[in-house]
Parts: sequence; structure tokens; C-alpha cells
Amino acid sequence: MSERFRALVLDKTDQGQEPSLKALTLDDLMPGDTVVAPAFSTLNYKDGLALTGAAPVVRSFPMIPGIDFAGEVISCEGGAFQPGDQVILNGFGLGETHFGGYAERARVNAKWLVRLPDGISPRHAMAVGTAGYTAMLCVLALEEGGTTPDHGPILVTGAAGGVGSVAVALLAKLGFEIIASTGRASEADYLKSLGANEIIARDELSGEPRAMAKERFAGVVDCVGSKTLANAISMTKYGGTIAACGLAGGMDLPTSVAPFILRGVKLIGIESVHAPLARRELAWARLAQDLDLEKLEAMITDVPLSEISEWGSKILSGQTRGRVVVDVSK
Ligand code: NDP
Repeated sequence: MSERFRALVLDKTDQGQEPSLKALTLDDLMPGDTVVAPAFSTLNYKDGLALTGAAPVVRSFPMIPGIDFAGEVISCEGGAFQPGDQVILNGFGLGETHFGGYAERARVNAKWLVRLPDGISPRHAMAVGTAGYTAMLCVLALEEGGTTPDHGPILVTGAAGGVGSVAVALLAKLGFEIIASTGRASEADYLKSLGANEIIARDELSGEPRAMAKERFAGVVDCVGSKTLANAISMTKYGGTIAACGLAGGMDLPTSVAPFILRGVKLIGIESVHAPLARRELAWARLAQDLDLEKLEAMITDVPLSEISEWGSKILSGQTRGRVVVDVSK
């Protein structure tokens, strides 16, 4: 009989969906050319949506959630990886259409995998996770938009969350002045410890947006969307870049073309799930170079796999700080 491993499985029920820890075998997994033993996974906002069923992230049931993992290759049919290689997987439908990272084994496709960069442990890779890698994609977008520290401060919204925390730490290391927007005044010291220079209340940016407001930010990393993003756009300086990656405050965007045609501001969409391999490798190489591991450590809450299903509602209600790392062996 083949070896059994633990996996968190979401089953469809009459009431909605039900998570449970199950013992599976490799025969239970979906097709793929590479078997990996995930050591760590993580809790991203999207994992919260999947775990609670608050949005239809999970496209088929049963599903093993977990949109990313870091672990060791067990076997690889095409030979692109050798047994023992350390790898990372973010996105590509993991935990949505393909069994994900909340399991001690995953069968995936080698072309989805990125090698773990030197100097980053599997636990730290998942402390970065999809959220941190998305933060890096946002920072790359600002740099490519021509934003440099001498242009002025960068606004980070949803700053105490996963994307926001990593964005603050990265931007601080790169020498930017950072204005961190948060709904939790209690996280001010945490955000300052990551490198934020000024903390503003979430409410300051959530009112009715004007088409144009006083120029304030050289660039923006936005995790929130809706009126917050519209206000941020209206306050972006001439030629500035806004990296829009999130919707924690809503999907809508009540703005006007004025900032784009009168100030030349650039609104750049950030998409992490299907980003090409070269973009992923660049982002991970830059994370290895530019993310202060002491600051990353300060963002981590460790949670065993056996308890992660209870955390879905916490991230959706904004109760988690920084990054939640899932120890798949516990
Ligand atoms: P988190 O839940 O960790 O962070 C989101 C933060 O947004 C919260 O911590 C809170 O920050 C703030 N927030 C929560 N609810 C509201 C609200 N109603 N109004 C205003 N602010 C709110 O999630 P992640 O950091 O993992 O993800 C952030 C966003 O980015 C999510 O929308 C997620 O879906 C998206 N995302 C997109 C990706 C992509 O590929 N485009 C990839 C990864 C994430 P605070 O308490 O500081 O105000």
C-alpha cells in the first residue's frame, strides 16, 4: 500500500463546504509531472476566501487549499528538477483548480516551480509567500515607472496586512520615505519597526474621492481598491506610478480620467497568479537581495496545518498582522 500523508481537504456539503484533515495517498492527487513535499505553506487573503467560501475561489470539490508552498522535490518525470531540490510554487491555480499547499505532498507541473533562492529558507519563502512576492511585483512596477526616492513619499494601503507589510519593508530598504495607511492604530509601532515614516488612518483615504486633490504621493502600493485607490490616484504627484494589487476594501474604482490625462499618473495592474517564469524569478531574486530577514521574522505568525482552517475568517476580517506561515508537518 502506498504511503499516506496528511492533507487539509475541503468537501462540498449541503451547508456549503467543510474542511477536514485527511490521510491521502499519492493516488489521490491530481495529475502532474513532479511530486513535492511541501514543508511550509501560508495564509494569503485568497486562502481566507477559499477556506471560508466567502468568494468562489475554489473551482472544484474536493479541493486541497493553499495557493502556495515551499518544499523539496521528491520526483520529477522530465528531469527539470532533481530529488532534494528546494522549490517554491505561487499561484497557477493551486488551491483553486489544482490541489494546493496544505498537504504533506503535492503533485504539480515542473514549469510552475521556481528554485528556492540561496539565502532564503523554505519557512522564510512562505513568510514572503504570494503576498510578499506580490509586494515585490508592486515595487518592480514603481521602479519601472521611474519612481525613485527623491520623487517623494510612497503610500502603502492596507499596510499592516501581508502585501502591505512586505512592501513597507522592501521600500524602506530601497531608501523610500513611506506613508503607511492602516485601519489599526495599534499597529503603528509595528509598521514603524518595518520602516514606515508616517502612519495615517484608513479613514483619511476612504471618503468620497475628488477627481484631483493636492499632490502628495510619488507612488502607491494599493491593497485596498475602491474609494481608497480612487483617493490615492487623485493625490498622486505628476508622473507618479500606482501599483494596484488588491481589493480588501472593494472591487469598484470610482475615479476619473483627470489624474491620467492632466498629471500623467500611471495605474499599473499587478497580477501574481499567471506571471511569467522570468518575472517570478526576477521577483524572488530581488526579494532575496532586498528583504531584510529580521523584519520578515517580525511579520510572522506560525500556525500548524491542523489549525489553519480556523484562520480563514481572521484574515478576511483584517485580524491577522503581517504574514501567517503554515507548518505543514504539524
Ligand atoms: P491581508 O488581509 O493580509 O491584508 C489586507 C489589509 O487590508 C488588512 O490587513 C487591512 O490592513 C486592510 N483592509 C482589510 N479590510 C479592509 C477594508 N474593508 N477597507 C480598507 N482596508 C482594509 O491580505 P494580503 O496582504 O494577503 O492581500 C491584500 C490584497 O491583495 C487582497 O485584496 C488580496 O486579494 C490581494 N492580492 C492580490 C494579488 C494579485 O495577484 N493581484 C496577490 C496577493 C494578494 P490595515 O489593518 O493595515 O488597514
